[in-house]
Amino acid sequence: MSKASVTVIGLGPMGRAMAGALLDRGYGVTVWNRTPGRADDLVARGAVLAGSPGEAVAANRLVVLSLTGYDAVDAVLGSVDPDALTGRVLVNLSSGTPAEARAGAAWAAERGATQLTGGVLVPPSGIGTPDASTFYSGPLDVFEEHRATLEVLTGRTDHRGEDPGLAALFYQLNMVMFWTALTSYWQAVAMADAHGLKAADILPYAVNALDLRQFLEFYTPRVDAGVHTGDVDRLAMGLASAEHVLHTATDAGVDGALPAAVAGLFRRAVEAGHAADSCSSLVELLKRPAAV
Ligand code: NDP
Repeated sequence: MSKASVTVIGLGPMGRAMAGALLDRGYGVTVWNRTPGRADDLVARGAVLAGSPGEAVAANRLVVLSLTGYDAVDAVLGSVDPDALTGRVLVNLSSGTPAEARAGAAWAAERGATQLTGGVLVPPSGIGTPDASTFYSGPLDVFEEHRATLEVLTGRTDHRGEDPGLAALFYQLNMVMFWTALTSYWQAVAMADAHGLKAADILPYAVNALDLRQFLEFYTPRVDAGVHTGDVDRLAMGLASAEHVLHTATDAGVDGALPAAVAGLFRRAVEAGHAADSCSSLVELLKRPAAV
C-alpha cells in the first residue's frame, strides 16, 4: 500500500476526471465501477482495476466515492467485508442530504472507518484545476492529513466543520440556487425559441440577468435583520411582474410550470398580507412548509 495511492470508486464523468487528475499528478490509482468498461482508458493510463468494491477498498487507506447518491454508496459499501473498512478514510463526494451524510458517517464509524463528506462545486471539466472548489466536513485532523491529495481533485477546499452533514448542507444550498437559476435560463431559451430566437441571441442578456450580486448584497443584511420594507420593491409589483412572465410563456405556447410556480409563491405571499412589503418577504413564506 503506497502513501501516494488512492482508490476511486464510481467512474461516471466526475470519478473518471478525478482518477485522471490523480494519475496526471503521479498518484497510484485503483478504480472500481459497476459497469467495468468505464475503466478502460484509465487502466490504459496506469490505473489498477479492482475486481470488486472490497478489493478496491482494501487497496488504499484513502477511498474516494463518486457515485450518483447515497443509495449507490450503500449498495457498493454494503457488499464490502466490514473488516476491510477498518482504518479507511471514505471521501464521499456523492450528492446527498445532510441527514444521509450523517447516517453515512455513523455507518462508517461503526466499522472503524472515517467519512469525509464532500460537495464538489465544478463540473468534470473543472476537476484538477486550481480555482475549482469543494466543500468538506468531518474530522478536521483527518481532512488536514489528506488535504494535499484532495487539492489535486479541486485546487481549493473549504472545510465547513466537523459535522459530517455540513458539507452536504452547503452543497445543497449551492445546488438549489444552481438548478433553479439554470432552469430559469432553459425557460428563457424555450420562450425565445417560440419567437424564432436562438440561445445565442439571448446569451449576453442571460449573463447579465443571472449576475445577481448587487441584489444579494442589498437584500442580505435586511433579510438577516428581518426587515422587509417595501421602499424599493413591493410584492404586489413582483406578483404583477411574475404573472406577466407566466402569460408571456403561455401565450407563446411553451411550458408554463416554472413561471406558474414562481407566480404562485408571489400570490400566496400577497394573500398572506405582504402586498406592500418587499419581495424579500417571500423568505418568511418559504421558511414554513407549503400548505397542501
Ligand atoms: P453519474 O451519476 O453519472 O455516475 C456516478 C457513478 O455512480 C457511476 O459510476 C455509476 O455506475 C454509479 N452508480 C450509480 N448507481 C449505482 C449503484 N446502485 N451501484 C453501483 N454504482 C452505481 O454521476 P457523475 O459522475 O456525473 O457525478 C458523481 C457525483 O458527483 C454525483 O453525486 C453528482 O451529483 C456529483 N456532481 C456531479 C457534477 C457533474 O457535473 N457531473 C458536478 C458536481 C457534483 P455505472 O457506470 O455502472 O452506471
